[in-house]
Amino acid sequence: MLKRNKSMSIQQNLLNLKKTLPSQVTLVAVSKMHDNNTILEAYNAGHKIFGENKVQELLPKYEALPKDIQWHLIGHLQSNKVKYIAPFVALIHSVDSINLLREIDKQGARNNRVIHCLLQIHIAQEETKYGLSADQIYEFLSSPIFSSLQHVSIDGLMGMASFTEDMDQVRAEFKGLSQLYTEVKTRYFADKPNFSILSMGMSGDYTVAIEEGSNLIRVGSLIFGERNY
Ligand SMILES: *Cc1c(COP(=O)(O)O)cnc(C)c1O
Repeated sequence: MLKRNKSMSIQQNLLNLKKTLPSQVTLVAVSKMHDNNTILEAYNAGHKIFGENKVQELLPKYEALPKDIQWHLIGHLQSNKVKYIAPFVALIHSVDSINLLREIDKQGARNNRVIHCLLQIHIAQEETKYGLSADQIYEFLSSPIFSSLQHVSIDGLMGMASFTEDMDQVRAEFKGLSQLYTEVKTRYFADKPNFSILSMGMSGDYTVAIEEGSNLIRVGSLIFGERNY
């Protein structure tokens, strides 16, 4: 009789969260460390966009789960693993080097498709978070490599704030990324409407992220509960 509780709560969590989101904000349900049945609970509640941070975890889920799921890769991606996700990935949030972007372009060509990507920007104070600096972004966007890439579409920017309780700091980091996004969009993508995504915000900070301009949030624990590492 208690059987329904878990699924009811995933559905309920999703509904409660979606109710609060402004219409321009898209939700990526971060399903890392959760099994296929758990993901199906969210899928059956009507959710189709899921995020995973590891290729080796994403692949079996992609194989087993419904094909109309849009899979987003949100974690650090090694160049030698791009080929495995290139045929189907809907959006790569975590492009943190130009070499990686070139490899994605190559695998896009092999698969005869354009792979949608976000450039991940380093905004946190921690050393451990991956990402490009603003300077690196400008250098790349001004270089001939940028215009030579035919099989990637750079759709926006992504960032992760510092892991801290200090919401003023988190807000300042999101604000900085939001300003960079606007600047880059104006300077380099004025004639490219595909550049329209600002991916920032997780369970603990998505409301602040949205206030600072995020339109794609990546939320895991608030939907699925705590992960058991
Ligand atoms: C795990 C993860 C999330 C979601 O984290 P929660 O705190 O569970 O919402 C978002 N973004 C990235 C890059 C992640 O690795």
